[in-house]
Amino acid sequence: MKDSILVINCGSSSLKFAILANAGQETLVEGIADRLGTDESSITFKFKGQKSEVSLEDGSHKNAVNQIKIWLSSHPIIERSLAGIGHRVVHGGETFSKSVLIDQDVIAGIKQCSQFAPLHNPAHVKGIEVAFELFPGLPQVAVFDTAFHQTLAPEQYLYPIPMHFYREHHFRKYGFHGTSYRYISQRLAHIAKGSDQQGVLVAHLGNGASTCAINQGKSSDTSMGITPLEGLMMGTRSGSLDPSLLSFISQAENISFESALDILNKQSGLLGVSEISNDCRTLEEAMESGDQRAKLALDMFAARTAKHLASVATTLISIDHLVFTGGIGENSSYLRQAICNHLKALNIRIDSEVNDNAPRGETLNISAKDSHTNVWIIPTNEELMIALDTISLIQH
Ligand code: ADP
Repeated sequence: MKDSILVINCGSSSLKFAILANAGQETLVEGIADRLGTDESSITFKFKGQKSEVSLEDGSHKNAVNQIKIWLSSHPIIERSLAGIGHRVVHGGETFSKSVLIDQDVIAGIKQCSQFAPLHNPAHVKGIEVAFELFPGLPQVAVFDTAFHQTLAPEQYLYPIPMHFYREHHFRKYGFHGTSYRYISQRLAHIAKGSDQQGVLVAHLGNGASTCAINQGKSSDTSMGITPLEGLMMGTRSGSLDPSLLSFISQAENISFESALDILNKQSGLLGVSEISNDCRTLEEAMESGDQRAKLALDMFAARTAKHLASVATTLISIDHLVFTGGIGENSSYLRQAICNHLKALNIRIDSEVNDNAPRGETLNISAKDSHTNVWIIPTNEELMIALDTISLIQH
């Protein structure tokens, strides 16, 4: 039966993939091609608990997808079950408010949105074109990180700058992590009946991190902006700050505006403050052995996350649920507690013991009995969402 979907997340130097079967419930094989564009690149396959690696001689995206095709030819049952390909696309601008079947117009639309995602969107187009070339019979679907936030009202998505920048250049808040937020909203509706008619806050905390308010199933505000730099402090991104700092940094270091921006994107956040690492787990270990810089970085991360949760909550009538997701949200009991400590004025409280003992990878309600808001840990699953969108679009 043709019911498997190849999910591709094609970046400029890496390509992640997975083949999901059984309405997305089962991952048959997954892997990643790393260091693309260099002569050290390779692709790994994780299949039935075993890992294998193939080096990619020319380091090209095409070779990476070709290796998936070669792997499939030696696993004919999976090859025959493939029904379509779903691609993660970072920026859909105002053109795409939902997932779409890919044709030449869609490829042109994704290229047009490249101005705001100059590293990501061209890589996605490359992945799509290579997949069409190597899997010519399979329909392909694009799933956009920005699409879920196209429901924001103008007073939320516009920047208070002269309006002609929006009219002529489409400078506005777009928001990201939309596929994760859509998944969380749907998953929550399953476990907390009626939540799709309520107010939900979500903190997607990974290396990239953002918050989202979901009102009756629709995104009403989110912390990331025209690019993922706005909002929370992240692994290496500063998040929101006074834009004048850009000019101060470029003057202080005698560097261009672009280089100063690069510092805010790649050398700031947890890494910049701790001067140790961008990785939360590494910082928690350092903090536990007494490192004050690691503790400061984590505490700043918590304070700023709480601030952006409260900020997006202004678009909700009530805060009925708060969900933690992403690598940090799902695994760091320290940060969940520290974030909720800042939200006491909103009557959000968690049960410390339940929080501390949360089993890895499971959905769990961690609210304290006196909390006005249900607080959850829900593991996100963007691949599943992409597979489900692909199945639904290719069936029509
Ligand atoms: P990405 O944005 O790259 O998808 P992830 O959602 O995978 O990121 O999250 C990566 C982050 O999750 C890293 O900072 C990592 O340290 C953190 N993380 C993963 N597991 C744990 C853990 N057990 N405790 C604390 N942090 C963790």
